[in-house]
Amino acid sequence: MTNREAALYIIKKLHKSGYEALLAGGCVRDMLLRRRAVDYDVATNAHPKEVIKLFRRTLKVGAKFGVVIVLMDKVQVEVATFRSEAGYVDGRRPSSVQFTSASEDASRRDFTINGMFYNPLKKEVIDYVHGQKDLKRKTIRTIGIADERFSEDYLRMLRAVRFSTQIGFKIEPATWKAICNNAKKINKISGERIAIELGYILINTNRAAGISMLVECGLAKAIFPNLTAAQASYGILVLSQLRGKVDFAFAMACLFSNCETEFALEECEILKLSRNDNKHIQFLLENRGKLLDYEMSLSNLKKILAKQHFHDLFEMQKAIQKATIGGRKSISALIKLNRRIKLLGDIELQPKPLLNGHDLIKLGAVSGPSLGRLANELYVAQLEGHVTTKEQAIEWVKLRLA
Ligand code: ATP
Ligand code: MG
Repeated sequence: MTNREAALYIIKKLHKSGYEALLAGGCVRDMLLRRRAVDYDVATNAHPKEVIKLFRRTLKVGAKFGVVIVLMDKVQVEVATFRSEAGYVDGRRPSSVQFTSASEDASRRDFTINGMFYNPLKKEVIDYVHGQKDLKRKTIRTIGIADERFSEDYLRMLRAVRFSTQIGFKIEPATWKAICNNAKKINKISGERIAIELGYILINTNRAAGISMLVECGLAKAIFPNLTAAQASYGILVLSQLRGKVDFAFAMACLFSNCETEFALEECEILKLSRNDNKHIQFLLENRGKLLDYEMSLSNLKKILAKQHFHDLFEMQKAIQKATIGGRKSISALIKLNRRIKLLGDIELQPKPLLNGHDLIKLGAVSGPSLGRLANELYVAQLEGHVTTKEQAIEWVKLRLA
């Protein structure tokens, strides 16, 4: 069962039980744009208690705010009671919700294009906020007065840029002006929520344009206060060279490709990224430039090839070369490297060491730091292909110790 089929089943069942139930928000927008929707959300006048009673498997975590997750087969559908939100504290989450009508539920949503409903049984769009008009005009506009709507939840500023990036719509002038005026207040929003929206911008193929908008309106400066205009422009240039699908950490590293590694990691702290993402960014930034070394030894090449994010490193370096003046020339280093890698064929990059610590001690090595160094040198000789058998390794060690 797909997410859409599950949502339609839920809507039919709610109708049969006498409730109003509609597809809502992003999926209606995407359907009208003939884009594939990420998820299908249902909005209804049934209260959470009633939704829970009606369906066998539900998750009730958000029930207080009017949201119940209905589980069908292997998919989850968010079923939300029509609600208005009140008592925004400091541009964060609403302190309370009230259950209301579909039209009031539409007006609490962020943008007109996100504020529509669809009745799949009647095949009818229900549009209280002139969303269809803005879809035709390819415009992102807040529902109501932009300044007020942003002050309820400043994350909406970043969402405006996110949707503009994803669907290529312009942000309507008054909405844009309000973003420019309020950009600094994005710091009232948690880093985790910022990271999610920033992630959508960076993984989209339109990422360079999206980040340019963030710079232009001041959101980039508010999120990364020490990133200079020059560093950001260079980052955008590198991002514009990326093709197709990339993941978040990779794109972040590209954005910071003209910054010191430590500086970049410090600027990213605000986003509270996962350990994996931080490590990924760190690896890419720390190893910048290494692939341009024509004389990289075979052992170093094998070591770097074995790294989990080698492919990203290669792609980032390619983008950096292309973004740099005269860089097309220096792409030849990467072309050569690629040939060298192909010639290696299907070899083992991280073979088991021919001798272990015990073997070395038996041969007369003394335990301590020098043992580690000896083991390391032997391993390099092994990766270089200078020693290939255990017997050769023993000879190599004996000679070294003598
Ligand atoms: P996507 O296609 O990426 O899921 P979406 O438009 O569905 O985008 P969601 O974050 O899934 O966005 O939210 C679903 C709907 O909830 C939105 O379309 C919008 O109507 C409403 N919404 C979400 N976040 C906010 C917000 N911060 N303020 C007001 N309304 C919001
Ligand atoms: Mg959605």
